[in-house]
Amino acid sequence: MPTPHGYTGRFAPTPSGYLHFGSLMAALASYLDARAAKGRWLLRMEDLDPPREAPGAQAAILSTLEAYGFEWDGTLLRQSERSDAYQQTLQHLLVQGLAYPCDCSRKRLEPWPIYPGFCREARKPDRDAAIRLRVPQLEYAFEDRVQGRFSQHLGRDVGDFVIRRRDGLFAYQLAVVLDDAYQGMTDVVRGADLLDSTPRQLYLQELLGLPQPRYLHVPLVIQPDGHKLGKSYRSPPLQAGQAAPLLLRALRALGQNPPQALHDANRTELMNWGIAHWDATRIPRTLTLAESELK
Ligand code: GLU
Repeated sequence: MPTPHGYTGRFAPTPSGYLHFGSLMAALASYLDARAAKGRWLLRMEDLDPPREAPGAQAAILSTLEAYGFEWDGTLLRQSERSDAYQQTLQHLLVQGLAYPCDCSRKRLEPWPIYPGFCREARKPDRDAAIRLRVPQLEYAFEDRVQGRFSQHLGRDVGDFVIRRRDGLFAYQLAVVLDDAYQGMTDVVRGADLLDSTPRQLYLQELLGLPQPRYLHVPLVIQPDGHKLGKSYRSPPLQAGQAAPLLLRALRALGQNPPQALHDANRTELMNWGIAHWDATRIPRTLTLAESELK
């Protein structure tokens, strides 16, 4: 499907809640990075987990993005439509012995911060079991465009991780890698909460012979008590009527220095200024920003 293209980026929200200011930072950074490079910008709904989906969240996410002036290319891809591709890869990994069924209960694993490999050689049936990917005793490292070099030892720091849950739902790590490749992603721009998922994704890309995109992780906005601004902490959903002031705030938080003259600008003027002046090297090189310090 993908045609060779200089730059393809994406925004990939999970509809377990509505978009909040942290989502706006990630969406805006990836949008401006793509448009400044005259690239494509795609939208993917990561609806892998229907039981955790908030009613109406998909429609609300799309209308919020529209209200804020985001224009995506092509049609929306929903992960719920991609089960066949995920299943095929899962089967391939199982047949190759690169993944294996694990029926350990939550209780059994509770004392272990890292999965200790109980089912690694156990040859359990794959019904009513999770599927774990066997990880090598190796370090995976990459150069993040904002955060610099990040590395993780998959054996020591992560352990064999779940790629299909016991309830049959596919895991984020597997789906994201397959879809980023399927959609021809050259650049992944997202929140810094996913920095430490990236080495797992690099390993999957290597196993499956998929190209490795460039990565840029934007700082997370945290509340004074240190909580990530996110769905689980009920940060306020973005309001359609707040587009201009919040875009301006997000541009500032991304280090872009919008001039005083933009203070009364509308969303289109802000987006156009953002595209024309985008400089990813100005993004603060930090994992978190305190909400109280944002102007
Ligand atoms: N779906 C993830 C989220 O909403 C983002 C995944 C990604 O950008 O790789 O946090």
